[in-house]
Amino acid sequence: MNCFDCMTTDSRSVASAYGAVGAVAVCSLCGVGLCEQHVRVGHVRVETHSIGNPSVAELPGRRVFCDVCAPADATAVLATPAAAVGAAG
Ligand SMILES: [Zn+2]
Ligand SMILES: [Zn+2]
Repeated sequence: MNCFDCMTTDSRSVASAYGAVGAVAVCSLCGVGLCEQHVRVGHVRVETHSIGNPSVAELPGRRVFCDVCAPADATAVLATPAAAVGAAG
């Protein structure tokens, strides 16, 4: 399986030109294959809305997502250049 985002995003240069970037994970929601650049890791929360007592429970274990399905707090696996600079400084 290859990365769906690499296959469909023309902004990728060399890798997408060959059209085959191996997937390392599968999005837990939409099921597309994801390479290490496109995979996001996060957790799933279940909201319970009862009168006067709304609550949010986080399910155990991590989930992997694509960029489209990822919740706001999901993180990229690869460190971004900006994050690397911040960590070094
Ligand atoms: Zn990719
Ligand atoms: Zn997805």
